[in-house]
Amino acid sequence: MSLSTTTKKLSLVVPVYFEQECIHQFIKETTAVLATLPLDYEIVFVDDGSQDNTVPLIKEKAVENDCIKLVELSYNHGKQGAVTAGIRYATGDYLLYMDPDLQDPPDEIPRFVAEIEKGYDLVFGIREEKMDSWLNSLLSKIFWGTLNKFTGLQIPKGLAVMRIFNRKFADKFNEYGEHNRFIEGIFIHIGMKRSEIVIKQRERFAGTSKFNFSRKMALAFNAILDFSQLPLLFVVRFGFFLSLVGVLTLVGIVIAKLFFIDFQAGWPSLMSAILLGTGLQIFFMGIVAVYIGKIYKESKPRPLFSIRETTNIDDE
Ligand code: UDP
Ligand code: MG
Repeated sequence: MSLSTTTKKLSLVVPVYFEQECIHQFIKETTAVLATLPLDYEIVFVDDGSQDNTVPLIKEKAVENDCIKLVELSYNHGKQGAVTAGIRYATGDYLLYMDPDLQDPPDEIPRFVAEIEKGYDLVFGIREEKMDSWLNSLLSKIFWGTLNKFTGLQIPKGLAVMRIFNRKFADKFNEYGEHNRFIEGIFIHIGMKRSEIVIKQRERFAGTSKFNFSRKMALAFNAILDFSQLPLLFVVRFGFFLSLVGVLTLVGIVIAKLFFIDFQAGWPSLMSAILLGTGLQIFFMGIVAVYIGKIYKESKPRPLFSIRETTNIDDE
């Protein structure tokens, strides 16, 4: 909590992973905007195991300005882990989560603050227009569409990374202990009083996106397993349907044999039936196994992240 009783504190929570080209510009733009606000602030960077100059660059700035803080994870946890650590370490009354690539522009920060001060617990940024290739837009449409359908979460369309929430919301977030975590899902799941504002978008300032197609797909798969029992239900229904077809076919063959034809069972059809049957069984057992794997992982009380070092953070 801040020393003064009236001034509230805003924490920016920023995961960084190989972002050396963005750090300086990000700090320059955000501190310029933050200085105009009647709030104390801190910028909590969480390094997710970058091997480039990201960490030294942040540390350099942290010497000049002790509102710049750094939590270094000891290896690459993935964005979800980095954000989790950032929210855990941020001490502000308001927490604003954004990426360092400046796709969500810092000039929007005052609007987020103004909106949350109306008494909301969470304010989502919604993208005005996405500065993305048509392929990316299509993929993200499919991604969010499928996800909402499977999980029933109703995540708003065009959700930006940038969002602000209050201490109460952050404390709730910190209660979520699952390892297999889908952050957007948790944000919706927490509920509380929510608002949205439409924000402008820019191109990534520098560097490249860390999320290629296969990483995005892995994320979607995880999110579905995390928030839905539908794949399991699908397995059960499909299994039932196949058994029904099997029984009907059998009855059909018996009747055919008795009354009409005297046909000879052929090897090819037999083999294909066996292969199809076994294949499906293995496939469905696989789905069940994935869930069991997740349960196994959750059942171990391991910490959510592992920290190597912190800078300008005083709680150890
Ligand atoms: N990021 C991270 N760990 C990772 C991958 C990415 O902390 O394993 C961070 C990255 O530094 C960036 C944010 O997550 O701040 C979003 O990544 P990016 O901008 O590459 O994704 P996009 O905006 O293209 O979805
Ligand atoms: Mg980005």
